[in-house]
Amino acid sequence: MSETLERPGTGARTIGAASPRDTAEAWLTSFGQALESGDVEAAVAHFAETSFWRDLVAFTWNIKTVENREGVRGLLDGTLAAAKPSAFRLDPKEEVTEADGVTEAWFTFETGTGRGYGHVRLKDGLAWTLLTTLRELKGFEERKGPRREKGVLHGIEQGRRSWQERKDEADARLGYEDQPSVVIIGGGQGGLALAARLKRLGVPALIVEKNEQPGDSWRKRYKSLHLHDPVWYDHLPYLPFPDDWPVFAAKDKIADWLKHYASIMELNFWGRTVAKCAAFDEARGEWTLVVDRDGEEVTLRPKHIVMATGLSGKPNKPRFPGMERFKGVQEHSSEHKGPEGWAGRRAVVIGSNNSAHDICAALWEQGADVTMVQRSSTHIIRSDTLMELALGGLYSEEALANGITTDKADLIFASVPYRIMHEFHIPVYEAAKARDADFYDRLEKAGFDLDFGEDGSGLFMKYLRRGSGYYIDVGASELIADGKIKLKAGQVSEITEHGVKLDDGTELPADLIVYATGYSSMNGWLVDLMGQKAADTVGKCWGMGSNTTKDPGPWVGELRNMWKPTALPNLWFHGGNLHQSRHYSQFLSLQLKARMEGLYTPVWGREEVHHKA
Ligand SMILES: Cc1cc2nc3c(=O)[nH]c(=O)nc-3n(C[C@H](O)[C@H](O)[C@H](O)COP(=O)(O)OP(=O)(O)OC[C@H]3O[C@@H](n4cnc5c(N)ncnc54)[C@H](O)[C@@H]3O)c2cc1C
Repeated sequence: MSETLERPGTGARTIGAASPRDTAEAWLTSFGQALESGDVEAAVAHFAETSFWRDLVAFTWNIKTVENREGVRGLLDGTLAAAKPSAFRLDPKEEVTEADGVTEAWFTFETGTGRGYGHVRLKDGLAWTLLTTLRELKGFEERKGPRREKGVLHGIEQGRRSWQERKDEADARLGYEDQPSVVIIGGGQGGLALAARLKRLGVPALIVEKNEQPGDSWRKRYKSLHLHDPVWYDHLPYLPFPDDWPVFAAKDKIADWLKHYASIMELNFWGRTVAKCAAFDEARGEWTLVVDRDGEEVTLRPKHIVMATGLSGKPNKPRFPGMERFKGVQEHSSEHKGPEGWAGRRAVVIGSNNSAHDICAALWEQGADVTMVQRSSTHIIRSDTLMELALGGLYSEEALANGITTDKADLIFASVPYRIMHEFHIPVYEAAKARDADFYDRLEKAGFDLDFGEDGSGLFMKYLRRGSGYYIDVGASELIADGKIKLKAGQVSEITEHGVKLDDGTELPADLIVYATGYSSMNGWLVDLMGQKAADTVGKCWGMGSNTTKDPGPWVGELRNMWKPTALPNLWFHGGNLHQSRHYSQFLSLQLKARMEGLYTPVWGREEVHHKA
C-alpha cells in the first residue's frame, strides 16, 4: 500500500537543515513536555490547523479520532488529567523518514496505566496526523518471553495432578461453578482472536458458538471459496501462518487452521451452543445470558458480552412475491454449498458482489447455464492489481523484506485517519483504471454497471463504509466480459413457478436461484438476543457516517460501535476481516482486562447514536 500512503498533492518541501530525526525529536520532546506539564494550549500548538489525532484506547479509553486544533483541545481537556502521559521517546529501532514534505516518526510513551506506541506525520514541524495506541497495561503485561510460566512445579508433590487433569477440571467448572469474566458470542476468526488475547492477559473468557467446531463459519460457505485477501494480511494474533502457506488459502484450510488455533491457544470453546437471550443486571453489574448448550439450558453470568457474530453472518434474505411457488431450488448464498448437480441446468444468481461472482464462476466451471442479475453498480478490482497497487507495500514478501512486519503494517494502516483515507486511495484506483483500462472497457461493453465508489476511492473505503458493493476479481469478470456468464441488469419483480421475472418484464427461466444479496447489519443479532429496544439503543454498527450509500451521516470518524464501549453497559462488538480481527482484538482485550482489574477507565468522546438498528 505504499502508493496508498503517499498523500496526493503534498508537494516537495525542504525543512531547513535539520535532519528528519532532529525534527521529529524536537517535536516529540516539546509535545511530551507540554503534556506532562498539563499545558493543553501548548500541546494544541503542536498541531497543524488541519490535523487529526487518532487514539486507540491510550488516552480516551475509546477508539476515537479528533480533528484540528479544536478537536485536540477537546480531547486533552477531557483526558489529560486521568491519562497522565509521559516518557515520549522516538523508537530507536525505527528510522524517521521524510518524503514530500512529510516527516514520519514512531515513538513510545506511557500513561498512568499503560505503555503506548505512536506514530506522527509532521508537516512544517507540526503534527498533521497523530496515532496513539495502548499496547499494554502496567502490572498486567502478557506472560510471554521472560515472563512466561514455568509450566511445572519441580520437586515432589503428593497427590500431584497432571496438566490435563487440572485443565479438564477447570473446563468442567467453567460456566457452572466458575463464571467467565467475558462471554464471546461467535467462534469465527473474530471470537477466536479475541479469546487468544484475553487468555494471554489472564481474563477468563468463554466462546459460545452455534456451530460444532471453531472455523465452521468458513467451512460451511460455498465450496469454491478462497480468501480474497492475501496471506500476509490474514495472520491471527501470536501464531502466524507458516511461510509456505498459500497466498490465497481455501476456505476449508482456513477452517482447519481456526480449529487448531483454538486448541493450541487453549481457548474455552463451547460448540453447538446457541446464545438465546441476554439481559444486564445493573445492580450486580453482570449479564444473565441463557444459552442452549447442545440441548441443555445453561445460564451464564459474565461481566461482559462480546458480540463476535459476524459482519457477514446474518443473511439478508430477500422476500419477492411468488417465491413460494417456485418449483426449483432457491437459496441464499450462505446456504449454497457448491455447483455439483447443476451441470446442464439453468442457474440465476441475484446480486453482483463477491459471493455472486464466485458462485457464478463455480457453476459455469461445472457446465451450468448461468445468468447474473445485477441490481446496482459494483466495484471491480482485479486481485493482482489490488496486490500490486494497494496492498503490496504493506502486506507482501516485499514489505517483509523492507522490514514491515505485520504489526508495523497494521499500525501504518491505522495511522491514516478515516476522514482523509479516501484521498490516499483515490490515486491508487485511478492507477488501477489506467492499468486495466481494456479489462474495464470489455466489462462495460458486456453491460456491467461498474463503479469505483462514490468518490472513486475504491474497495477498502466501500468495505469500511458499507461492507459490500464489490468483487475482487479472480476470474469471473472475464467470463462476464466474454458473455459466458450471462448478465442481466434489473430488479426482481417476482419469482414465478419456473424462474425470475424482472421489472422490465423479462423472465429468466431457472432450475436454481441463488440470492447473493448480502448480509444485514451486525446488530441484527442483538434484536434476536436482547430485543429491538436494546438493538435500537446501541444503534447501527459499522460505517463512519460518510454520507454515501448505506452509510448515512453525520460523520463520526470511526466505525460505529466497533471494539469500543457501546450505549449498553458491558456490551461490545468485534469482527471484520482477518486483519481487523487481529489488530483490533488487541485494543478490545486491553479494555476488558482493565475493567476486570478495576482500573480507572474513563471513556471520553462517546458518539451519540444517530441510527437505530
Ligand atoms: C463469501 C465471503 C468471503 C469472504 N472473504 C474474506 C476474505 O477473503 N478475507 C477476509 O478477511 N474476510 C473475508 N470475509 C469477511 C469475514 O472475514 C468473514 O465473514 C469472517 O468469517 C468473519 O469472521 P467473524 O468471526 O467476524 O464472523 P463469522 O465467521 O461470521 O463468525 C460468527 C459466528 O457467530 C456464530 N453465531 C451467530 N449467532 C450466534 C448465537 N446466537 N449463538 C452462538 N453463536 C452464534 C455463527 O455461527 C458464526 O460462527 C468474507 C465473507 C464472506 C461471506
